[in-house]
Amino acid sequence: MMRAMSMTNKVRKSSISQRIYFLLSLLLCLTFAIPSYAINAHPPWLQQSFDQVDILDKKDPKLALDFAQKLLAEKGDSMSDYDKTALYERLARYCTYLGEFTLGQEYIKQGFALKPDPASSIGISLKLSQASILDELGNSEQALNLYFEAEQLAKDSENSKMLADTYSYLANSYSLNHNDIEALKYFHQAYLLLEKLGDDLELAYLKAQMATSYSFINDDEKAISLATEVIQYFLANEYYFDALYAQSGLANDYLRMKDYQQAEIEFKKVIELTKKLGKSDSIYTAYIGLAKVYFHLEQNDKARYYYQLYESKRHQAPPPYTVIHDAIFVAQVELADENIDKVKQAISIAEQALTKFEQEKALSWYSSLYDLKSKLAKLENNYQAAYEYQSEYIRIKALYHNEERERVRSKYKVMFDTDQALLQNQLLERDKQLDKIALENAQNKQWLQNIIIIVAIIFVIILSAFIYRQVRTSKTLHKLANTDTLTELANRRFSFLYAEKMMSLAIREQEDFAIVVFDVDHFKQVNDKYGHAGGDIALKALAITASEYVRNKDILGRIGGEEFLLVLPNTSAKQATVIAERIRLAIANKVLTINEQQTNITASFGVAELSATRASFNQLFYDADIALYQAKEKGRNQVVVATS
Ligand code: GH3
Ligand code: MG
Ligand code: MG
Repeated sequence: MMRAMSMTNKVRKSSISQRIYFLLSLLLCLTFAIPSYAINAHPPWLQQSFDQVDILDKKDPKLALDFAQKLLAEKGDSMSDYDKTALYERLARYCTYLGEFTLGQEYIKQGFALKPDPASSIGISLKLSQASILDELGNSEQALNLYFEAEQLAKDSENSKMLADTYSYLANSYSLNHNDIEALKYFHQAYLLLEKLGDDLELAYLKAQMATSYSFINDDEKAISLATEVIQYFLANEYYFDALYAQSGLANDYLRMKDYQQAEIEFKKVIELTKKLGKSDSIYTAYIGLAKVYFHLEQNDKARYYYQLYESKRHQAPPPYTVIHDAIFVAQVELADENIDKVKQAISIAEQALTKFEQEKALSWYSSLYDLKSKLAKLENNYQAAYEYQSEYIRIKALYHNEERERVRSKYKVMFDTDQALLQNQLLERDKQLDKIALENAQNKQWLQNIIIIVAIIFVIILSAFIYRQVRTSKTLHKLANTDTLTELANRRFSFLYAEKMMSLAIREQEDFAIVVFDVDHFKQVNDKYGHAGGDIALKALAITASEYVRNKDILGRIGGEEFLLVLPNTSAKQATVIAERIRLAIANKVLTINEQQTNITASFGVAELSATRASFNQLFYDADIALYQAKEKGRNQVVVATS
């Protein structure tokens, strides 16, 4: 109401033009949302009908509603639930646009009854239509709740298109409820999303709405540039219906800015467009506009002419604020031509209508009225009355200016807030970029770390393999150094070293210790009969046979060509003799196959044990060797123990 009082020019706009815009936006915002999912899902004949209805809708939503209703009546029964919901959604929108709210709500109810997925485009669209009707019926709180629900659904389903629509609806809702700051905030959000989606038509609708909002807060520069831009777009794409409303807004902007020459041009364009569209019922806004333009250009005949055209076209029973507004205008025109009676008549009409408003809520009109009265009194040479009216005029004007100052202050606040929002969006965008770079850096770092880890692992593997090889080589070398290559028994050097070590341990621990020395009998003959290689085979076989009797701590070594030493820690001469006897038997009984011939070999054994007279290994070995010699002497293939 404050706005209606302080901005007389806008009374009509806020109540009719903006309302139409709001409704128009409902209709058009979704025009593109519906086909976007319908294309995939509706049967071709229905899709064709929907396309047709879209075309009608551009011309006149009444035609679209009729068509859609006919479609429902004729084909409704054979449609799938999904198709039918889409149709109900459209019907609801057209009704909303035409102000048929009750019917619209009925269609919405029918649509919801078919249980569309609430998070689908159609579910969200239905919710938005439902909210917009509630808004229209003055239930803005409930409407806001629904808008916010729709916002959440669109966000959750990552449906940018529906999110942009929701923001656009929210902006219009706030604009309708005179909260320009919030309105512009949501316009902005919708704008950013639509820009990202690259949807030019939607963007044009949004800009048209934004132009209206900017003009409400007297941000002329933005309002005019946006309106001019969208008019060009609408004309180029033959959206004459939309071009007309944007054009009308632009003309009124110039009028409000007192740029009468430009306003005249723009209002004439409105008339041209109205004729082009074949819809002359909204032409009256251009007529009253031109009447005002010519009045200010001091062409009262023309002003009167257009005013009469306006009167013949406007609603026959206009609301009180239109009556006041018109009467004041007529009075001003007639006063300029000094038609005293007509001025008086107009003033009395205005005064009568003004009784419905409190003075402090209609300051602008009251001040205009006192101004008129003062000038009229002056014309009638009633200077006393003229002075009194003038004083009253000045008083009310001062009040009005205070109010105006407040309004301008809030206007700048809105502009500031809008700029802040813009800045914040830019900062957010920059933050996003920085986050992206940080993420990329982190990813690169991670990649580098992985590479380093992989290289390190490869290095460790290679190093381990190298060390393993080294250890193995050294083990092999060690083994080679201590092993006899033919029999793989310990060699002479290692056998003697081991024997000496074990013997000193036995002396220290006072444990038994014995050795057995044995030599193959008549080995020269084996060599002679089978060759040196045949002899080698016999030696290998002997080594294997004798090894079977070797215990854990014992060691069997080859100490000469066909001489062997068995070291037996913790063993007495008696035990050693038993072991030697077993080996002797095993060798003698082993059938050897050399050069495909079967043969046997025998060996003679000398046993000696650690004793007081044998304190050194040399002595022990010497005695064992003597015993071996004795075994040979005695006829070979036997064991002789060295006497103690
Ligand atoms: P005896 O019963 O008295 O020991 O008679 P023998 O023929 O075995 O005599 P002796 O122990 O003196 O001879 C050892 C022979 O063993 C001499 C040599 O030709 C042969 N011999 C030594 N080392 C090897 C060897 O590595 N391989 C082969 N095939 N023969 C060897
Ligand atoms: Mg020998
Ligand atoms: Mg021999």
